[in-house]
Amino acid sequence: MAKIGLEVHVHITSLKTKLFCICPSHYAGKEPNSVVCPVCLGLPGAIPVPNKKAIEEAIKVSLALNMQISDKVVFVRKHYFYPDMAKNYQISQYDGPGTAPIAKNGFMKLRNGKTIRIRRINIEEDPAKIVYPTGSLLTSKYVWVDYNRSGIGMLEIVTEPDIEDPKEAREFLEKLRSILEHLGTCDCTIEGSMRVDVNVSVPGGERVEVKNIGSIKGVEEALKYEIARQEALRSQGLPVKRETRHWDDARKVTLPSRYKEEETDYRYFPDPDLPPITVTENWIKSIASSLPELPDARIRRFVVQYGLSEYDATVLVMDKGLADFYEDVLKIYYKPKEVANLLINDYLRWINEMNIRPSESKAKPEYIASLLKMMEEGVITIKIVKEILSEVVKGSDPRKLVEERGLTALRDQEFLVEIIKQVFAQEPDAVEKARRDPKVINYLVGQVMRRTGKRADPYLVNQLVRKMLGG
Ligand code: ADP
Ligand code: MG
Ligand code: ZN
Repeated sequence: MAKIGLEVHVHITSLKTKLFCICPSHYAGKEPNSVVCPVCLGLPGAIPVPNKKAIEEAIKVSLALNMQISDKVVFVRKHYFYPDMAKNYQISQYDGPGTAPIAKNGFMKLRNGKTIRIRRINIEEDPAKIVYPTGSLLTSKYVWVDYNRSGIGMLEIVTEPDIEDPKEAREFLEKLRSILEHLGTCDCTIEGSMRVDVNVSVPGGERVEVKNIGSIKGVEEALKYEIARQEALRSQGLPVKRETRHWDDARKVTLPSRYKEEETDYRYFPDPDLPPITVTENWIKSIASSLPELPDARIRRFVVQYGLSEYDATVLVMDKGLADFYEDVLKIYYKPKEVANLLINDYLRWINEMNIRPSESKAKPEYIASLLKMMEEGVITIKIVKEILSEVVKGSDPRKLVEERGLTALRDQEFLVEIIKQVFAQEPDAVEKARRDPKVINYLVGQVMRRTGKRADPYLVNQLVRKMLGG
């Protein structure tokens, strides 16, 4: 069995400004190096001023993850020399003599009741972004540095190595993402807002760290690959050495990183520009009292209020955008189970197929309501619903699609009676049985549906078959 620990870096996207300066923290689409100032460029003499809201966001996340919150916020300098780091140190937090991270010793529960311990949460600034204009890290002849990202407020959330397989890692990250989105701390649909380092070892081997994976799917794939690689080495009696690797998302492999980072001495010490900030009980209490509904509570509410199974409720709530969308549909079409079924079984499949998050779908709640309403009224069949759903996800109004393409269900009684007569003629045994056993009626209805390409209104066919059996 593998041992897995995660280091999750998330941008605090709810911040309007960077962690220690007043540059805007949203830089998507901005000219490179246009959202910068002396502080986030690390110019000598520039003094950082902590963003109070960043500390509040860290406390919110700490409360949601059942952490012990430190009574002081201490920022340290973590030294390393790299082109993404203007000052040659990153302002971060550290668990050492005289310093502590904002929070320690929390936990999260997985679906099967298992507890994943969370070691610590750090508040830290993001380094600048390095761009490789003529290839990759390994092949580019030179690099560009974009400081727009430098100084963005981030949280680093570090687990104990309690995770045992890639699926569990995915579940942990999906739940963490849902918690962060419910808190409003991180809108993880923003490109690059969640990055993960995974640490993984197998029995008899050292731990390998795979750095900087940009998606939850990537984490799962990298872990699968890495566990297989390590187990193959062990089964040949070869050692797994302690090393840092990176995930090549195009080739779906982990590769050794060029630099040995194990030996780095970061020379942590408290930043003299940033005196410790006291975290009072009252401050924590007032933040705790303003927390929104979190995923576990929302799942319980979905079960009680809407009569969903725990499984269905969990699938919906594990993505805040999907859960919000679900409740928006219910506001106009209150059939909780029908809506949940369509979203979970069919809608989500298209979302995954298109490789987008549910909140990026162009479907409006009205569209899902119309689809189900048209089916309920016998205007269209479930087959048509499934057929046009992918276009609805892309933003087409289902009522228009049905009208333009003439997809309405067959309700021509004369025509249907003809087909039922044909079926009866071919299935005399079934007709005989159906008079005694209602289950066989469904079989006959199914035969009629098949002959109409599943376009007939099943309710009407059912009525007609019953009438013709009786008569
Ligand atoms: P570092 O700061 O050098 O990366 P840490 O001790 O802080 O080292 O651990 C980083 C991560 O490695 C944590 O998430 C931890 O759970 C994980 N980890 C520690 N030991 C192991 C192990 N034997 N196998 C897999 N992961 C591990
Ligand atoms: Mg590490
Ligand atoms: Zn700045």
